[in-house]
Amino acid sequence: MNKKMLTSDHPVEECGLFGVYGADPAMPLIYQGLFSLQHRGQEGAGIVVSDGKQLSSSKGQGLVSEVFANVSAKKLQGHMGIGHVRYSTTGSTRIQNVQPLVVECVDGLWAVAHNGNLVNASKLRRMYQEAGAIFQTSTDSEVLVHLLADPLYRNRPQRVARALGELSGAFAFLIMTRECVMACRDPNGFRPLSIGKLGDAWVFASETCALKQVGAEYIRDVNPGELVVADATGLHSSTFAEQAAGALSQCVFEMVYFARPDSHVFGMNVHQVRMAYGARLAEEHPVDADIVVAVPDSGNSAALGYSRRSGIPLDFGFIRNHYIGRTFIMPEQDQRSQGVDLKLAVVDEVVQGKRVIVVDDSIVRGTTARRRVMRLREAGAREVHVRISSPPTAHPCFYGIDFPTRDELIAGNQDVDSICAFLGADSLGYISIDGLLSPFPDKQNFCKACFSGEYPVEPGETGCKKALETYSGELPFMNKTERNI
Ligand code: SF4
Repeated sequence: MNKKMLTSDHPVEECGLFGVYGADPAMPLIYQGLFSLQHRGQEGAGIVVSDGKQLSSSKGQGLVSEVFANVSAKKLQGHMGIGHVRYSTTGSTRIQNVQPLVVECVDGLWAVAHNGNLVNASKLRRMYQEAGAIFQTSTDSEVLVHLLADPLYRNRPQRVARALGELSGAFAFLIMTRECVMACRDPNGFRPLSIGKLGDAWVFASETCALKQVGAEYIRDVNPGELVVADATGLHSSTFAEQAAGALSQCVFEMVYFARPDSHVFGMNVHQVRMAYGARLAEEHPVDADIVVAVPDSGNSAALGYSRRSGIPLDFGFIRNHYIGRTFIMPEQDQRSQGVDLKLAVVDEVVQGKRVIVVDDSIVRGTTARRRVMRLREAGAREVHVRISSPPTAHPCFYGIDFPTRDELIAGNQDVDSICAFLGADSLGYISIDGLLSPFPDKQNFCKACFSGEYPVEPGETGCKKALETYSGELPFMNKTERNI
């Protein structure tokens, strides 16, 4: 195994979307919405607004607070807009890949923001390139722009719906023209997208925590296969792809790890689901111990659930440094390995002489978990029992979550006993797949492919996140980060 790659024990997240129609100015709301979706991506952020005549955009690399630190709301005026926070699941970390993408077609301007991963992007991209099209990013999302510009779709009714119908894989899109904001989810419903109302304005967000942040009332989720259009005449819904019976594949990892605990995702509160995971873990893998300790923040809810069900008290054995960012979001491995050492500190007095149960959400490569076990022992823990609120992550994700390849996943190559030995723990217990699905009344509606290897949509040619990368420099004509169009 490549040692350099074995540095993070969390998958990195995908992207976050936030859009508004009918609030003037829209920009401050989008900023707040993106700010509360920051946990979904920290590589870059962008906002595009429209005043009905002109689109204005600003985007850059880094955190929302950094990207928009010197951007005045006066520069981004309009009553509608869409925003995006990015972690690259395809394409490298460079400004061209930061979304929303803005393009000018023969019939007007379009802005597009995407969460997910298109499994037929390579095929579509090749098709358009062979026909002479020029791509300016290495993201899968750009193929939608070409579909929208294609005369085959452009000149026909229901153009957007037809273009979306060509896509395969996981996608939630926000699309904006000068006149309207559109929101859609793929027919499998992999990625979440909610609709809210703020006075007369319509709001769209990847998670409901962002709706709450701006004071919007949650109305409902965008349905899988649905295209929703917000314009001057109200909110309109249509179906661009029929959902095949039993074809719903909502990403269960949103519940395990990605989403914020105060969000409602796929109709359930994330904190409560994680609490249920912890309780189930206590039933499936009980052990005599003195304290339960969470790996903050992702293990907090499950640790509480474990503690309550087992009767073993919860204590704060790890303190997280909140001022260095979330290390597993840093896309470069060397950044990750440096950051991990800074991220968590053990409270020696809490664990000294104790039998400690450590609860975390997942183990990806195993090296971070191993380091934490070592630290607990160095701090004087008598026993260390690791409990994981997801099953062994043994398969890569092709739908927008940046897991490593199977070779790099520790559970892709080793059984639980070997992983336990690698971690140096006294015991290791993962929740079962049954347990993972137990909180949901509609268990069949979830994707669990990274645990089971059963992929609901054929991965096709989907490769690594840089599969569409053919150029490593900056494109000179794409360097500007602020534009009035
Ligand atoms: S493979 Fe795993 S991470 Fe990817 S969509 Fe399915 S459940 Fe989510």
